[in-house]
Order: sequence, then structure tokens, then C-alpha cells
Amino acid sequence: MPAADYKMHEVHWLLDMFNTVDVGLVVLDRQYRVCSWNGFMENHSGLLPIAVQGRELFEVFPSIDEHWFRTKTESVFVLKNRSFTIWEQKPYIFRFKNYRPITGKADYMYQNATFIPLTDTRGEVTHICVIIYDVTDEAVNKLELEEANRLLEQISRTDSLTQLPNRGFWEETLDKEFKRLKRNGGCDSLLMFDVDHFKAINDTYGHASGDKALQHLAALLKGTLRESDMAARYGGEEFVVILYDTDAQGALVFAERLRQLIASTKVVLDEVQLGMTISAGIAQYRSGFLQYPQWIAAADKALYRSKQAGRNQTTVAED
Ligand code: GH3
Ligand code: MG
Ligand code: MG
Repeated sequence: MPAADYKMHEVHWLLDMFNTVDVGLVVLDRQYRVCSWNGFMENHSGLLPIAVQGRELFEVFPSIDEHWFRTKTESVFVLKNRSFTIWEQKPYIFRFKNYRPITGKADYMYQNATFIPLTDTRGEVTHICVIIYDVTDEAVNKLELEEANRLLEQISRTDSLTQLPNRGFWEETLDKEFKRLKRNGGCDSLLMFDVDHFKAINDTYGHASGDKALQHLAALLKGTLRESDMAARYGGEEFVVILYDTDAQGALVFAERLRQLIASTKVVLDEVQLGMTISAGIAQYRSGFLQYPQWIAAADKALYRSKQAGRNQTTVAED
């Protein structure tokens, strides 16, 4: 084939490739008017090149953030730099529906984009080329992974029976709060309570009923908490609460309200109505505690005194 023929064919081949390549290619002039619009853009927007050519991009696509787009591309025109954007900064530039079956979860196509300066014969940047990559699969995978990790973290902190925070997570929180109190001072209180004669409930009604009774108790506790209080299931039928900015007297009011509520509410199981009482212990933070377990031990000791004194009552730890 003569060289001139190659040249002619080459233009055809380039045009073919321009239209079939699986990325979006758009050429814009200095006024952001569309000069070229390839097959990818046509297929995803439903707009033929003839419908967009010569028109300002922001007029055809009002959903494009014009200020952002101009800022992003200004340096491409002025400094002749390439510029990039990824979906994590901006999910998409062109709002195209996502039709991919596997990633049907995303409503819109996630896009990465590159902006390339196009120079004329004198080396002036008169146009830019915008390359749009469909990264929906990658984005959805990453988002799903993040969601799964969030869920796993949530599960690892939660007690499965009561859906309250579990002991591990609660102790981490307490440790942080303890260190904060050591630095800044303050008066938080710890409340610890334990169901009275719970073994008898299990023995009488069965373990499954015992579980339901614990769920019922957790629901009463959640209903009594303030937004800032941090409760957890500490062990079998033992619960703990960090009461922030609450002195022992305030904690006593809270604990007594909860104790009376539990004592006066019956758990309705299939055939029976079951009553429960709790014994509670309270310990206000003291600067003399060296480690947070000493604070827990003080609340536990107060709880033990409630048991000793006949149960169904609250005791405040002595200084
Ligand atoms: P006290 O008033 O002295 O606290 O008596 P108690 O019977 O509640 O105390 P004890 O520690 O002897 O018994 C606690 C019981 O709680 C024993 C255990 O079988 C039961 N338990 C612990 N975890 C669970 C649980 O998740 N579900 C059920 N159903 N029972 C549990
Ligand atoms: Mg008990
Ligand atoms: Mg116990």
C-alpha cells in the first residue's frame, strides 16, 4: 500500500478506535464548548455528537459542578499540565445511569477522569481532552468492603443476645475515659448491677426464658439511658454503665429509677409473667484510682454489699 493510502486509512482507523474504545473522550475548547464526543459518551448519555457539538458543556449537562470543573481544568489550559480526578473525590463528572448487571447496586456510573492539554501548531493549549473511565466495579467493590468492615466492627463490639455493647468494647471506652479524667479531672460514676437469683429463673423457666428475660432487661436499660451514658453487658446477668459528668448522688437517682422500673415490670413469656429484681453498686471516680480496674472493683464491691444487705437495692461505694 502506498504511504499516502496508509495515511488515509490511518485516519479511518483512528476514528473507529475513537468511537469504539471503552472510555469516554471529549474535546473542549477554551469556552468549554464540545468539539468531539466519542461513541462511549454517545452511548451513555444518549446524545449524538451532533446534539452536543458547539454547545457549552455546562448547558448540556447542568448537573456538572461548573465551578469545580473550571478550577480543575484551568491549570490544564494555563500551565499545560495534566490533571486527574478519582471517584473518591467526586463520584462522577457525567451523571450516567449504571446499567452493569453485577454492579446493579450503584445508581450512577462511578468515574475517574483525566484532563489532557491539546496544543495547536504553535504549542498553545487551545483545547483540552477529557478522558472518562468507568470505575463502577472497582468503586462498588471498595464500598461494599468498607461496609462489610463497618458491620464486622459493629458486630465485634456488640453483645449478640442483648445488642448492647459488649464488655471488651465497654472497657476500651472506660480506659479512655479514665485517662481523660486523670488528665482533666471530672466526676463520672460507674454503675454495676446484677440480676437477683437469676439462677432460679433459669432453673424454673428454662434457659431460653432466661435469655428473653435478659433481653427484656436490656430494653428497659436502653430506655432509661441518656444519650451520653455508655452501658454494656459485662457478663452473664451483670450490666455496667458509665455515667458521664454524674456524681454519686446523681448516679444513685438514675440507679434507683432503673431498679424500681425493673422490679415493677413483668417479663411476659409464653405462659408466665416473670418478675425480676436487681442489686446495684455505684462508684464515683476518685483520683486515687491508679488503673480503671480499681474503679470497676469499687463498684463491684458496692454491688456485693447490696447483695449482702438483702438484694433489690443500690449501694454507693464509700470513699
Ligand atoms: P445472685 O442474686 O447472688 O446474683 O444470684 P444469681 O443466681 O443471680 O447468681 P449466680 O452468679 O449464682 O448465677 C447467675 C446465673 O446466670 C448463672 C448462669 O447460668 C446464668 N446466666 C449467665 N449468663 C446467662 C445467659 O446468657 N442466659 C441465661 N439464660 N442465663 C445466664
Ligand atoms: Mg445474679
Ligand atoms: Mg452474676
